[in-house]
Amino acid sequence: MIDAKAQVLALREQLERYNEQYYVADAPTVPDAEYDRVMRELIALEQAHPELLDASSPSQKVGGAPVSAFPEVRHALPMLSLDNVFSDQELAAFEKRLMSRLDSTTEVTFCCEPKLDGLAVSLLYEQGQLVQAATRGDGTTGEGILENVRTIKAIPLKLKGHDWPARLEVRGEVFMPSAGFAAMNAKALTKGDKVFANPRNAAAGSLRQLDSRITAKRPLSFYSYGVGLVEGEPLADSHFATLQRLKDWGMPISPEVKRMPGRAGCEQYYADILSRRDQLPYEIDGVVYKVDDLALQAELGFVARAPRWATAHKFPAQEELTKLLNVEFQV
Ligand code: NAD
Repeated sequence: MIDAKAQVLALREQLERYNEQYYVADAPTVPDAEYDRVMRELIALEQAHPELLDASSPSQKVGGAPVSAFPEVRHALPMLSLDNVFSDQELAAFEKRLMSRLDSTTEVTFCCEPKLDGLAVSLLYEQGQLVQAATRGDGTTGEGILENVRTIKAIPLKLKGHDWPARLEVRGEVFMPSAGFAAMNAKALTKGDKVFANPRNAAAGSLRQLDSRITAKRPLSFYSYGVGLVEGEPLADSHFATLQRLKDWGMPISPEVKRMPGRAGCEQYYADILSRRDQLPYEIDGVVYKVDDLALQAELGFVARAPRWATAHKFPAQEELTKLLNVEFQV
């Protein structure tokens, strides 16, 4: 018991250090696969010793604290993380949990999406105009980054059409396409500058610049994958149809988003995307399955840091620790 407690405390401390490096400094020192391994070790220990559970454990929290150099933005609805599965067995367990919570034997339809490796942003449109943009931060409070977001060409400053709600919060991922990332690092190398660790850190470092002229020079792009606050009626009764409405208003939606039936459909989607992973023009670290029916989503609800109605199916790790430790990086 004493050993378990000491181990849990050590793992929490280790993860907090990684979180600070990753979310606040945009400069990770270990690859994601190593972070995920330590997190799973912590979760397994906390489950085996429920008396050690603590709401402030990294296993219960989202992201990192917002940096004070940016104005604080409080999210109208929390911006959560995603639970994840790493195998077909874990996916089967996810589906089983859903079915038993819904007390249903009817197959669930999932909206399947690429898991873009960038950073989550919230975009607030009032009367169709972009008026606020924020990072996820700790899920409750993010960093106000409107000026930087305004430099990203894929993000409309004004929505098309007229039938949008008076206030609409669009959520999605800012990312750096692979070609832009490679060109930027190649240029940095010829100039003897430091290079970025990976497109995710390049995107995060570029977006969280204090000078938006620097952000403007960075090859950033954006796909939307959902909504937060929507004033008035919901946009649709399914997640997929919600994304189609956003698309009609000019929001970029990944062409890879597909509705698939049950776990078998998810596995098929995963295999297809994994086989094409290297040909995609951006990096992804897995795929995301979301229960498509919004009424079922509402029934399933949330746990502390993630919705119960979605999970990320992570791809096998590509990075190696040595690769990360041998190169010097910049934010
Ligand atoms: P996550 O990245 O596993 O999943 C949640 C995020 O996925 C969302 O916030 C969103 O930004 C993103 N996302 C991409 N496509 C999406 C889609 N289609 N729909 C919904 N969301 C989508 O969770 P997290 O809390 O952001 O970060 C945890 C992960 O970050 C870890 O599993 C690890 O891989 C990495 N991490 C690494 C280190 C490190 O030191 N290397 C430190 C902290 C976190």
